Order: sequence, then C-alpha cells, then structure tokens
Amino acid sequence: MSLSIFLIGARGCGKTTVGEALSQALGYAFRDTDHHLQLMTQRSVAEVVADEGWEGFRAREAESLIAVTAPATIIATGGGMVLAEANRHFMREQGRVIWLNAPPEVLAKRLENQPEAAQRPTLTGRPIAEEMSDVLQERAHLYRAAAHHEVNAMQTPERVVDDILHSLSLARAS
Ligand code: ADP
Ligand code: MG
Repeated sequence: MSLSIFLIGARGCGKTTVGEALSQALGYAFRDTDHHLQLMTQRSVAEVVADEGWEGFRAREAESLIAVTAPATIIATGGGMVLAEANRHFMREQGRVIWLNAPPEVLAKRLENQPEAAQRPTLTGRPIAEEMSDVLQERAHLYRAAAHHEVNAMQTPERVVDDILHSLSLARAS
C-alpha cells in the first residue's frame, strides 16, 4: 500500500512529532504543510499572517496542502486546515485522515513549553489556554467530519503511532 495519510488537529496535538515517527514506522515520506508554506514564502507563519492577514495565510495553506500531497507520504497539516470545505474534501478523497484529539489544557501546556520562535500568533491575542478551548469547541465538528479515524493524542507519541497503524490496518516496516 502507498497511502497518503493526513494528520489533522489543533496546534500542539503532535502532528509534527507523531508524523515524523509514523513516517519512520512505515518507511513513508514526511511533509508538513506549515513547513512547505514557510519554504515557499521564505517567511515564518507569523510574518505571512502579519503581511497578508489570516485570509492570505489560509489561501497559501490550501495551496501547500495540494503541493505536498503524494503517495506513501505522511502529511502534517496546519491546525486550521479543516476550516475550508475544499481542504476537508481534498484530504478525504486523496487518502486517509487521522484526527489527533487532546483536551485544550493539554494542548495549551505543550504550546507554552515551546520556544517563542516556534509559536504562532494567537487568533485573538488572549491567553493560549483560553483561546485553545474556544478554538477546539468551534472546530471539533470539522475535525470529526474530516477524519476517517480519531486517535487519543494524550498518549506517548509511540502509542499514538501504534493506534494509527492499528486503525489503518497497517504494520510497522521491519
Ligand atoms: P503540532 O505539529 O500538532 O503543532 P507538535 O508535534 O509540534 O504539534 O508538538 C507540540 C509540542 O508538544 C512539542 O513540544 C512536542 O514535543 C510536544 N508533543 C507532541 N506530541 C506529544 C505527545 N504525544 N506527548 C507529549 N508531548 C508531545
Ligand atoms: Mg506542526
């Protein structure tokens, strides 16, 4: 099999961490839509948002999704990728979609521990924990609608990878 596997979920749920581990386990390539966007624009996500607004960022995000999608590839997506119906449709049609779900407090704690440079500007300027709770409430139904499978992202990355492999009936590459 040579699937495209899309990892969706809010910032901090482990898409990059789990995606890299999953790509190792399967011998698949790993791509990250945020990383692709940064390479294409030669700017950080924060800079693109500052220059072009969230709307401009969302348009570039959709382009990045299409650009990185390939067979035998794990694709870590930006937290807001599911906001656009076209993106949800594209991912479901092109491959298997996995939602890494964790409660807002856990996500906020992980993000607070990240270095400043790795942090994205918040949507509202409010504290991360508060905003994360609202964002998840707004988006949970979109993650659920887009995903073929939902995985508990509070586990260790290795356990998350095992759950994904199990849900897709895939074995680790030996
Ligand atoms: P995303 O790409 O979804 O924004 P990351 O993979 O960058 O998330 O992870 C965000 C932070 O949380 C990183 O500091 C990472 O080390 C940590 N992290 C990711 N997955 C887990 C996990 N399953 N358990 C504990 N910490 C995790
Ligand atoms: Mg990431």
